[in-house]
Amino acid sequence: MKIYDKLYINGQWQTPHSQASHDIVNPATEAVVARVPMGNSKDLDDAVAAAKQAFKTWSRTSAQVRSDFINAISAKMSERKHDLAAAMSMSMGCPLEMTMALQTEGPIYGMQTFAEKAFQMEVVKEVKNSLVMKEAVGVCAFINPWNYPLNQFVGKVAPALAAGCTIIAKPAEQTPLQDIIMAEIFDEVGLPPGVFNLVIGSGPEVGAAMSSHPDVDMVSFTGSTRAGVMIAEAAAPSVKRVTQELGGKSPFIITADADLEAAVSYGVEDVMINTGQTCTALTRMLVPESHYDEAVTIAKRVAESYTIGTGEAFMGPMVTKLQKDRVLSYIEKGLTEGATLVTGGTEQPSSQAAGWYVKPTIFADVNNDMAIAREEIFGPVLCMIPYAKLDDAIEIANDTPYGLSSGVYAKDRDAALQVAREIRAGLCFIQGGDFNYDAPFGGFKQSGNGREYGDEALHEFYEIKSIQM
Ligand code: NAD
Repeated sequence: MKIYDKLYINGQWQTPHSQASHDIVNPATEAVVARVPMGNSKDLDDAVAAAKQAFKTWSRTSAQVRSDFINAISAKMSERKHDLAAAMSMSMGCPLEMTMALQTEGPIYGMQTFAEKAFQMEVVKEVKNSLVMKEAVGVCAFINPWNYPLNQFVGKVAPALAAGCTIIAKPAEQTPLQDIIMAEIFDEVGLPPGVFNLVIGSGPEVGAAMSSHPDVDMVSFTGSTRAGVMIAEAAAPSVKRVTQELGGKSPFIITADADLEAAVSYGVEDVMINTGQTCTALTRMLVPESHYDEAVTIAKRVAESYTIGTGEAFMGPMVTKLQKDRVLSYIEKGLTEGATLVTGGTEQPSSQAAGWYVKPTIFADVNNDMAIAREEIFGPVLCMIPYAKLDDAIEIANDTPYGLSSGVYAKDRDAALQVAREIRAGLCFIQGGDFNYDAPFGGFKQSGNGREYGDEALHEFYEIKSIQM
């Protein structure tokens, strides 16, 4: 078991003000695998002071300097990719091979994409008698979740570094280990003191203090809508910039002329990957009535084919017992609401003696008014909803307070594109399209504000200055 007792502040590993610590538990075995220190608001004050001081010089470095740092960081991440994957797998439960493929390789590439974007900061536009230029927004506080911990870290840190901002990062309580490795990497590449600071701590203490701190210029958050609203409220009196990546209940429309086998297989995999702990998961599958029974049969077969466990398995456990219990209570709710359980349910998978596992679960005969169709379950639970006409499907798809992601599988790309344009969501995956680290990521409606990745992510981290001549 690894024991850490320091926080990374002002370019040094520092002893925290409090002696509090937190045990990291492997959700596959329920064994304690590491212990980390829990910082408090005094540690945060130290980190903010360091970031504020560092901003004076870091924000004035050339784009070339910041670009070189980002390339060096990305290269070091590649060297330590096995450490990064192991750290995430042992703390949040995604099986190791899947963690490498799904949670590690992408963010390393994502980091690298911002090396070039740094140069956009030096572009000055002439508008009649004005010069319009960009300046880094300032000291940024990042509050991250546990489900894709490195992905969310890089989605915030990479554009902030490219823009010339300084950073205080707080990982989720369950998953601090990859952030510790990232701090080691920043230290190794010689990032100037105070540009990046890591304060491990609780949401209610350190997260809340980050959100209201007078010297923090921007707070970027990923997690639940509940915490996102509290953070925005806490940030309002000091008029900080706030970006939020929140929850989702994303629809997946399959049209009557789509390749049903391919569409349903893709849809089931999309929900079950990372054991359903994916904010973009396409958890409402909308299927034409004429093909409904066949689609349910395919979905059952696909879900029952998945391996559960560690290592090379497809699905791991839920991150915590709390999250497992939450998912099981939704499965019970679905049964009470009258949905038909096609596969899965509330029992522990027979292959697993320990660990917080939930079977891949599919509900049929779901209507969009049921709680299991309206609320984010954040577990391996798919709702299959029948529809009569394509217009009805679009109506059902948009009948949600969320707007993070969506999917369409139609006869071909052009037909899918037409439907995609009708859906009110920040992302749409058509014909099984892949996640793209060069494209912006973020939600409409109650799924959040702002974008990560792509050029649009850089925009979040600069102010515009207009000089009239
Ligand atoms: P959570 O919101 O409780 O925790 C996420 C982070 O917020 C953690 O770092 C936590 O310490 C911090 N936090 C909690 N309360 C806070 C407060 N009052 N002030 C400041 N920070 C606070 O989320 P959870 O329940 O652990 O995670 C699951 C939820 O996160 C799901 O609902 C899921 O939809 C959402 N999520 C969304 C995305 C996205 O990109 N949209 C990604 C991952 C997770």
